[in-house]
Amino acid sequence: MHHNLNNLINIKKQIQLILSEQSKQICLPNIIAVSKTKPINEIMPLIEYGHIHYGENKVQEALEKWPIIKKDFQNIKLHFLGNLQTNKVKFVVPHFDYIHSLDSLKLAKKISIEQKKYNKDLKIFIQVNIGNESQKNGVEISYLKDFYNECVSSFNLNIVGLMCLPPNIIDPQKYFLSMVNLSKSLSLKELSMGMSNDYISAILCGATFVRIGSKIFGKRH
Ligand SMILES: *Cc1c(COP(=O)(O)O)cnc(C)c1O
Repeated sequence: MHHNLNNLINIKKQIQLILSEQSKQICLPNIIAVSKTKPINEIMPLIEYGHIHYGENKVQEALEKWPIIKKDFQNIKLHFLGNLQTNKVKFVVPHFDYIHSLDSLKLAKKISIEQKKYNKDLKIFIQVNIGNESQKNGVEISYLKDFYNECVSSFNLNIVGLMCLPPNIIDPQKYFLSMVNLSKSLSLKELSMGMSNDYISAILCGATFVRIGSKIFGKRH
């Protein structure tokens, strides 16, 4: 078995084991295999195994890798994770299924306009600046409710949930718990949080999508 596939399967087993030991019922999250910077031959073993969710953060790179593959494997779901410039939205909309980084009304408007052209209805996460860090993208907590309402009422976007990149500390659990509360306050279903270093903590808090890169594909250069 290819080592990347082995890594994915081990992560799944580990998650199942940890969840089976919990007293409260927690759903198995979706695993987004974050394949940015990795060539398609490193990803193919997962695709052939039937893994569905993949994440990329550079438009150019994603367009070189995925459109051909998606023709052959139509159940694949592609997630856009990175900072998204409005002038790139027209390239993202036709090829991606989810966007995790909505954080401005300018971007919301652009997605709305572009997806009408393709008759698409992307599933969108609002990125929240949960640690209130000046260097990070994301909507401020105090503005989140208004922002969400505007995205839905003015731009008719399909907001499925919230996403965060918490402060870089050993266990960002308190930020994950804040995300859960915000999500509940808006009655949203999905929570995109947890990466290679903290996905267990995120899952135990209630993440429904974890985004795992290096733990599956190895270090990026
Ligand atoms: C790269 C990236 C990930 C995956 O990071 P790892 O630490 O390699 O698991 C997750 N989310 C976002 C937004 C990323 O850019």
